Amino acid sequence: MGVFGNPHIFFNPKHPYTTGLLASIPREFGKERRNMKLNTIPGSVPNLITPPSGCRFHPRCKFAMEVCSEKKPKLIEIEGGHKVACFLYSSETEGN
Ligand code: SF4
Repeated sequence: MGVFGNPHIFFNPKHPYTTGLLASIPREFGKERRNMKLNTIPGSVPNLITPPSGCRFHPRCKFAMEVCSEKKPKLIEIEGGHKVACFLYSSETEGN
């Protein structure tokens, strides 16, 4: 199942980056839209030549723990076909 074929991503996002991206989509239209402040993810996109250690999102993640900068989270399935790579959903939170 591809990313766009899995409705869990849109209706029940788990990964903090996915949640941040979906929260940045404008939902109001018409007059109110002009005054609407969009949600943003703080920080900048990572340097792909020298990416951050551990979870690539850790410098920008409001839930980051010590382990996030030390280890890469494994992709785990949390419910039928819905997978996430994040220590918030893993029992593996101890660094090496
Ligand atoms: S692994 Fe850590 S830094 Fe990465 S998204 Fe999850 S909580 Fe945030």
